[in-house]
Amino acid sequence: MIHSINPSTGDTLASFDEHTPDAIEQALAQAVQAQRDWAKRPIPERVQLLTKAAEVLRAKKADYAALITAEMGKPIVEAEAEIEKCAWNCDFYAEKAEEFLAPEIVVSNAAESSVVFDPLGVVLAIMPWNYPFWQLFRFLAPALAAGNGAVLKHASNVPQCALAIEDVLREAGAPDGLFRTLLIGPSAVEAVIADPRIAAVTLTGSTEVGSLVASQAGRQLKKQVLELGGSDPFIVLADADVKEAAAVATRARFLNVGQSCIAAKRFIVEESVADEFVAALCARVEALVVDDPMNRESNIGPMARANLRDDLKSQIERSIGAGAELRLGGKPLDRPGFYYAPTVLDRVTPDMAAFAEETFGPAAAVIRVRDAEEAITLANATEFGLGAALWTRDIDRARQLARRIEAGAVFINGMVASDPRLPFGGIKKSGYGRELGEFGIREFTNIKTVWIG
Ligand code: NAP
Repeated sequence: MIHSINPSTGDTLASFDEHTPDAIEQALAQAVQAQRDWAKRPIPERVQLLTKAAEVLRAKKADYAALITAEMGKPIVEAEAEIEKCAWNCDFYAEKAEEFLAPEIVVSNAAESSVVFDPLGVVLAIMPWNYPFWQLFRFLAPALAAGNGAVLKHASNVPQCALAIEDVLREAGAPDGLFRTLLIGPSAVEAVIADPRIAAVTLTGSTEVGSLVASQAGRQLKKQVLELGGSDPFIVLADADVKEAAAVATRARFLNVGQSCIAAKRFIVEESVADEFVAALCARVEALVVDDPMNRESNIGPMARANLRDDLKSQIERSIGAGAELRLGGKPLDRPGFYYAPTVLDRVTPDMAAFAEETFGPAAAVIRVRDAEEAITLANATEFGLGAALWTRDIDRARQLARRIEAGAVFINGMVASDPRLPFGGIKKSGYGRELGEFGIREFTNIKTVWIG
C-alpha cells in the first residue's frame, strides 16, 4: 500500500494499492504506442497540449496547491506559487520548443548537412516529494514538446499529487497513455528501467538513489539525467550589502521549510562582517511564522516526513556536539506533526555534519572565514556541486570568483532559483545533465546528423 499522510498532524489522508505487474505492463504498452503517434505530430501541434495544461493548472490552482500542502506540508502560498511556475514552464516551452528544436545547418563537405532533434521515446521519470508538481513539470513540458512520452514513479508520500498530475494531462487533452502515473514502490522500479519500452530515465532525488538508478540504467545503456542533492554555499564577502544578504539568505534557506536541493545550506561569511550577518540572519529567522501550512501567514510548516525530521535533529545534535554554537532553534517543536524549529548554527567547521552532509530542513549553518580565498576553498570542499550564491559589491571580482566555484549555477547578489529560461543541474555528486532552457529540451532527443551527398 502507498499512504498519503498529512505531516501537520500525522493522520493518514488516503491509501492506494500499488499497481500490479499487469497494470504496469498495460501502461507501458499504451505509452509506447501513444508516443509513436505523438512523435509524428509537428511541434506546433504538440505544444497545444502544453498551452492547455497551463490553463488547467491555473484554473485548478487552489485545489492542486491544497493537495500539495496536505500531502507534504509546504506553506499554502508557496504551493500556489509552485502551480503558477508549472503553468509558466508549460507556456514557455509552448512558445520556444519549435525554435529550440529547429534543424541546424552545418557546413561540411556534404552538399547539405544538418542536425535534427528527434524524440527518444518513453522516458521514466522518478521524482521527489519536495516540489511534487514542479519537479515533474520541469521535465515533462520539454519532453512532451520534443515528442517523447513519459511514465512517472513519484515519491511514495505524494500519491495524490501524482494522480492529480495525470488528471492535468488528461484534461488538457493528452492522447491516451502518453503520460501515465505508476503507483509503485522503489523495489518495482528496476524492472521498469530494464523494460525495452523505456528509452531513458530521469531522476530527481538523493545522491544515494541517484547512484543506484544510474547503475541500473547504465547496465541497460539508457540515457539518464540526474538531479541530485546539494549543499549550496552562500558566500558573503566583507564588501557585501550584509543586511540585504541576510534577508535573502533567510528566504534561500527557509523556503519550502528548508527542503530544497538548491536551498542555501552553508553560509560562508568573512569574519569581519560575520557578527553583523549572524545578528541580521537571526532577527529575520526569529520573525518567521511557524504554523499550520494552510494558514496564509505561515512561513514554516512541518517537515514532510517524521524520518526527515529525525535526520535533521541528528545532524544538528552531532554538529553541536562537535562544537557548533546554537543561536536559534535546535529542536523539534512540541506539537502534533513533524515540525522542527527554525535553527541557526554559528562557527560551523568542515568536519561537522551541518557542513559535510546535506541538511534537508530548516537549519542554517554559518561558517566564518578569513578572506575570499578561504571562502572559495570551503565552498568547494563538498562532494556536491549544484548551486552557489556570492555576495559582494565588486562585480568584476565576482565574475572571476564565480568561475572558480564548482557548481552548476552561481548567483551573484541573489538566491539560487530555477527558471524555465536558464539551464539547471549539477556537477560532482549533484548529478549530471541539464533541465530547462534550450539545453534541457535537448537532453531527451536524438541529436541526429542528416548528410546529403
Ligand atoms: P529519494 O529518497 O532519493 O527519492 C526520490 C525518488 O526516488 C522517489 O520517487 C523515491 O521513491 C525513489 N526511490 C527511492 N529508492 C529508490 C530505489 N531503490 N530505486 C528506485 N527509486 C527509488 O529523495 P527524496 O528524499 O524524495 O528527496 C530529497 C532529495 O532529493 C534531496 O537529496 C534533494 O537534494 C534531492 N533533490 C534534488 C533536486 C535537484 O534538482 N537536483 C531537486 C529536488 C530534490 P519512494 O518515495 O517510493 O522511496
